[in-house]
Amino acid sequence: MNYSASDLDRIVKDIAEEMKERTDRGEVASYIPELARVHNSAFGLYVIDEAGNVGAGGDFDTPFSIQSISKVFTLTLALGKVGDHLWRRVGREPSGSPFNSIVQLERERGIPRNPFINAGAIAVTDVILSGHQPREALGEILRFMHFLADDESIKIDENVASSEQQTGFRNAALANYMKSFGVIDNPVNLVLGVYFHQCAIAMSCRQLAMAGRFLAHHGVNPSTGMHVVPAERARRINAVMLTCGHYDGSGEFAFRVGLPGKSGVGGGVLAIAPGKASIAAWSPGLDAAGNSHLGRVALEKLSKRLGWSIFGG
Ligand code: GLN
Repeated sequence: MNYSASDLDRIVKDIAEEMKERTDRGEVASYIPELARVHNSAFGLYVIDEAGNVGAGGDFDTPFSIQSISKVFTLTLALGKVGDHLWRRVGREPSGSPFNSIVQLERERGIPRNPFINAGAIAVTDVILSGHQPREALGEILRFMHFLADDESIKIDENVASSEQQTGFRNAALANYMKSFGVIDNPVNLVLGVYFHQCAIAMSCRQLAMAGRFLAHHGVNPSTGMHVVPAERARRINAVMLTCGHYDGSGEFAFRVGLPGKSGVGGGVLAIAPGKASIAAWSPGLDAAGNSHLGRVALEKLSKRLGWSIFGG
């Protein structure tokens, strides 16, 4: 669909206003104590298209914990380091299981199904850590976010990181289990330290949508023309986002929204309309699969209004 810059902003603001009013808001994640403090009344939506037109609604400038959305960016970094060798230690099939499930790992000899479930993301972080101190690896991840979003103010929320460090027993179990199969190279406590900190990066919808632009535009940042990754890699990351980005809710997200997307338990969702736009939504209340409830509802409305589903308008 053709739209003007003011149409785009109007559509996004309409959706944000509607979402603010809704009473079905899902439940804020409570298994990471620091996340349980976030108010469930928040809602933000931000869209930036190839021409730089913007739609911004609600709390689009409020930073939130990006949690598992960080896995998109660590996957991009790890592919940059080791290329397709990465796929020897992590698969690219949907898991059909919750994000922190442990059962599949035993049957599949410690090789996680995909890089977006926790086990897979921990294995990816291990690749980024190799040859570095944890502090350097984290610096690299954070600098990458600054570069992609063109914003040096993006920070790690240390309270969220230490809250998860103190309660992340399942992730410790997953990491130790993979280590027993030789899938993790570095000491487990160091890998987990980096993983918990990458999940604790705080970003607003605006910053997140800015950071996702290279995925919407064939690996290129459209404002600078700079190649972040080859086009083929952007396409493949989008494919994994579509099939695995919402865990056992990935089918439902594809069915309703029709866009590659990655959720986090902080209530954020990064969605990519290939060739069109990068989109970030935030609503802290989650559905049963741990994905933002109103984030998904809003994205469904947006992709319908603009005809952006990759499966046809
Ligand atoms: N840090 C969270 C965890 O490991 C990330 C999970 C998520 O966002 N789905 O449990």
